[in-house]
Amino acid sequence: MIYLKNYINGALISPKSERYIDNYNPSTGEVYGQIPDSDLNDVNTAVEAASNAFDKWSNTSKDERSKILYKIADLIEQNLDKLAEAEAIDNGKPFSLAKRVDIPRAAHNFRFYATAIIHYSSESHHMEDQAVNFTHRDPVGVAGCISPWNLPLYLFSWKIAPALAAGNCVVAKPSEITPMTAFLLSSICIEAGLPDGVLNIVHGLGPKVGEAIVSHPDIPLISFTGGTQTGKHIAQIAAPMFKKLSLELGGKNPTIIFDDCDFDQMLATVTASSFDNQGQICLCGSRIFIQKTIYDKFKLAFIEKVNALKVGDPKDPSTNQGALVSKSHLEKVFSYIELAKEEGGSILCGGQRVQLEGPLKNGYYLAPTVIEGLDYLCRTNQEEIFGPVVTITPFESTEEVLKMANSTKYGLASSVWTKDISKANLVAKNLHAGIVWINCWLLRDLRTPFGGVKQSGVGREGGNEALQFFTEPKNVCIKYQ
Ligand code: NDP
Repeated sequence: MIYLKNYINGALISPKSERYIDNYNPSTGEVYGQIPDSDLNDVNTAVEAASNAFDKWSNTSKDERSKILYKIADLIEQNLDKLAEAEAIDNGKPFSLAKRVDIPRAAHNFRFYATAIIHYSSESHHMEDQAVNFTHRDPVGVAGCISPWNLPLYLFSWKIAPALAAGNCVVAKPSEITPMTAFLLSSICIEAGLPDGVLNIVHGLGPKVGEAIVSHPDIPLISFTGGTQTGKHIAQIAAPMFKKLSLELGGKNPTIIFDDCDFDQMLATVTASSFDNQGQICLCGSRIFIQKTIYDKFKLAFIEKVNALKVGDPKDPSTNQGALVSKSHLEKVFSYIELAKEEGGSILCGGQRVQLEGPLKNGYYLAPTVIEGLDYLCRTNQEEIFGPVVTITPFESTEEVLKMANSTKYGLASSVWTKDISKANLVAKNLHAGIVWINCWLLRDLRTPFGGVKQSGVGREGGNEALQFFTEPKNVCIKYQ
């Protein structure tokens, strides 16, 4: 049994209450660890440590901060196998995916912001012969960072790295469902020489630890990634306290396939954009719209591809689909498959749990599922499922597909497949989404603004956007004599 500890003021410590929560391995359904069931007392200690460390860290030179972040990135890379294995066990995702995507990206996040802060410059505005304005960009103080379970270290570091680079101290909470790599990061930060109190990681439940962070009077900014409902709740607490707020929330992303696309390239990528990480990526395309002229061809080829995906042991290199993250999430996703049937949908493949053998027999496996025949306004096509379930829907015109694609309350990401650049531009311009990929998916340049519109979020992460969020501008106007 592994007992995790909080990372507060540079030390690994138990929660004050000495209470713990079970941590499950989703590939076996067994408890394999204990997570601190922290509460307000632990958050208060963490905030105190972070507040005490702030003066020194914010006045540490950018070069020095950058060096430490580089060291963290190096250590993440040196521990690639260990971290990837921990992520696979904790989350249920294939080890090969964690090793290829999650952990390298976590290292990249630290390295990206280690360099970004060195090159970060602030604005100046010249008023001809009257005055000059220049704008300081100062760290804000103690940042609260809260992240979800689907890409645990990848998203945790996506917040922490820019916050620390900009000179803030951090109190962070990973999802209690997948806390392991955040715990391992604590030791990495100690080894990298991150000063005590600069980063504090408090494990525990959202309504206890998360809410204590959000409502703490000494945390002036909150960066949150998670579900739209939780985001709404957080906004209600933070808004009257006038906190800076960055919310990266849910999605119901459209994939739009025109008949003039590169079919083979599209097919390979759309299989990945539908089912990578068991469909548990906020950017996955869960509503696939196909031009009527190639609908039948697509349907046949897609089902063949999806049926070939191997659902299996996350440790097995030949596995494409691991386990869903938890029993309750599996049940939620499954309930949407039942709903789709009630709404008149036909299950073209998948639709059932997969029972593996031996120690994996109680794991949370679900066959990748494709559904057709649903109205674009039905609940299955409007609500976020966040699992290996997609719907396919034919369309005739660009106007029609835009109407269907834009019909949800979400607006995170989208992907469009066509060789016609004018059509691609027209669709990109008219999609209600923060991110549009043309003839690709999840091709990420970390300098670009990342986030969604409508109920998919408020604000943007990435590049300068994150550095702007984690700093407060102060304009100084100097009048010429
Ligand atoms: P949740 O909203 O349930 O949880 C996200 C985080 O918030 C967790 O750490 C959770 O803790 C914590 N939390 C829960 N309740 C509170 C609260 N009252 N106050 C403060 N913190 C709280 O989301 P999931 O973890 O289920 O993640 C899946 C969701 O995240 C999906 O909707 C997905 O679309 C979205 N997402 C969005 C991304 C984006 O960039 N837009 C990227 C990735 C995911 P605990 O785990 O203990 O409940």
